[in-house]
Amino acid sequence: MYKYKEYAPGRYVLSLDNHVEIFSSIEAFCKEKNILSGRVDGLGAVSEATFRYLNPSTMQYVDKTFCEQMEITNLTGNISRKDGKPYLHVHITASRSDYSCIGGHMLSGVVNGACELFVEDFACPSIGRYKDTETGLNLYKFD
Ligand code: FE
Repeated sequence: MYKYKEYAPGRYVLSLDNHVEIFSSIEAFCKEKNILSGRVDGLGAVSEATFRYLNPSTMQYVDKTFCEQMEITNLTGNISRKDGKPYLHVHITASRSDYSCIGGHMLSGVVNGACELFVEDFACPSIGRYKDTETGLNLYKFD
């Protein structure tokens, strides 16, 4: 699924295998390393990606999958925990063959080429999530 190098305590460089799904790969890495809070960023290329848009006035989610080759010009995300499991919040921007960009809240993406990530483990167990009733979002909760 991935290869990695810990270049400093709690800091990793990850190289995802071709054709793996990015979101679940990051989740698997967090489980393997027991990362309860941290950050992730990186770049790469995908053959498809699914974004989620939340309409705040209706609180309806709209998911959309783009099946085309795109460069990940930026992937940025955070790692916390919810119900004892890793909870990822990831956004990406991806460029199309005409160099225009699309992006948003990422649900999934399939590597086609490479995906190179940097993960930092904050080594802090008290960064969690709670369901906020006003926004409907899983917001940060600091114990
Ligand atoms: Fe988001």
